[in-house]
Amino acid sequence: MCLTIPGKIESIDSKGVATVISHRERAQIDLSLVFDVKPGDWILYATNRAVKAISEEDAKEIISLLEDKYNPVDVSRLSLKFKKIIYKVRSGDSNLTKDEIIYLFSLKGKNNLETLYAEANTLRKERIKDFVCIHGIIEFSNYCKNNCLYCGIRKDNQGIDRYRLGVEEIVEVAGNAVENEGYKLLVLQSGEDENYSDSELIQLVREIKKKMRVFIFLSVGERSVDFYKEAYESGATGALIRFEISNQKLYAKMRPGHKFDDRKRLIQELIKTGYYVATGSLFGLPGQTIGGIADDLIFMKSLKAPMLSAGPFLLAKNTPLSCHPRAGEAMTWGSNISDGFPIGSGMTRETLLELTLKYIAIARFLMPEIKIPVTTALETLDLEGRHLGLLAGANALMFNLTPEKYCKSYAIYDDKYREREKVWQKYGLFKGEESWEMIEQRLRVVPEMDRKLN
Ligand code: SAM
Ligand code: SF4
Repeated sequence: MCLTIPGKIESIDSKGVATVISHRERAQIDLSLVFDVKPGDWILYATNRAVKAISEEDAKEIISLLEDKYNPVDVSRLSLKFKKIIYKVRSGDSNLTKDEIIYLFSLKGKNNLETLYAEANTLRKERIKDFVCIHGIIEFSNYCKNNCLYCGIRKDNQGIDRYRLGVEEIVEVAGNAVENEGYKLLVLQSGEDENYSDSELIQLVREIKKKMRVFIFLSVGERSVDFYKEAYESGATGALIRFEISNQKLYAKMRPGHKFDDRKRLIQELIKTGYYVATGSLFGLPGQTIGGIADDLIFMKSLKAPMLSAGPFLLAKNTPLSCHPRAGEAMTWGSNISDGFPIGSGMTRETLLELTLKYIAIARFLMPEIKIPVTTALETLDLEGRHLGLLAGANALMFNLTPEKYCKSYAIYDDKYREREKVWQKYGLFKGEESWEMIEQRLRVVPEMDRKLN
């Protein structure tokens, strides 16, 4: 699942050790697990061991996704304020003020933006290297008892076909992903579907853990702390649960019947329990301001969660926000123009893409070691989204494993992107023992054998 690097074999010595050149180093690599390779061939390697041979074409595709594409920036054209922020971040001070964050969001022009992304990417490389984490997501039910205004699978949306997978079916999909494709980290996601009792979901975790070696992340929304504790004891490793919006008023407006404080408390409890928590916000909502997004990022930093899950709001048919042009009446909700500047009004796809890349880069400045997945929403915004996200400081990818026939119905927003890129599966999902140890070390999760799972 994680970091293998493509490299070209330059020479091989009599002990089977190759000198390999990659896009970032010349290294001595043990070839004992790979047969029939010769100088000029390409291999994937992890630490100092070759994992497998690959074609030149695949190697180049992987390298192109990891390599920078920006031209050197013209430092003389950067403002003094921007230079000072860069200096601050480079000196290891990640405590940016709200004013500095708003300033970064306000940057315009190619030179400024490419500087911002390149600085974030450099920080990512320095702190977490070329570690790319690959997650598979199984969206097992699109029923939801809630009515979040932004969400396409909200309870009141009559315009989608509802589906839910049985426990056996979910275990089968997971088994296929783990055994046949090499996935080591699965996110099990659904709407808040009460049809699955707590004990059924816990049973699901147990079944999967009994049958295969895999890290399970739950993304099932708000359930009791007791449920989450038992699921953890049964083998769940992580929880993906966004806090969505840290502005209490806007939160209550967007998520009728829910309170920000309850969500916050739950997330804090999950972190305390030992869950590897991925959390973050939804941005670009009507009523948000850049100041509000800055507050979300500052709140995110205060949580000290190891992974960020955040993404742009995209329109979903048949929802209360579906016809808002990111403006109009909705903009007045909680909007406070003196708080940074309002977003939304007339926001084009390009502006939203820029906002997303800025969000990733600024998150990297604030939390240099956090894992940041490229979200499907970014890939939906731009086909190049995955590459652009990695270049702006992200370091993880999420692939959709939901059975084909249900995919269209998990329509949390319109035209959701879905592609299983074979090259990434070849690249990231190698099956050696060291790839497991790498995940445990990198994620710093408690090794499973030390957790005395039932
Ligand atoms: N029901 C669970 C929950 O709310 O945490 C998990 C599933 S929910 C579909 C997963 C995430 O989808 C939410 O945290 C929300 O941020 C995101 N989402 C919902 N509607 C969206 C939209 N229109 N655009 C972008 N993201 C959206
Ligand atoms: Fe349900 Fe989650 Fe969508 Fe809200 S965001 S309606 S809780 S699936």
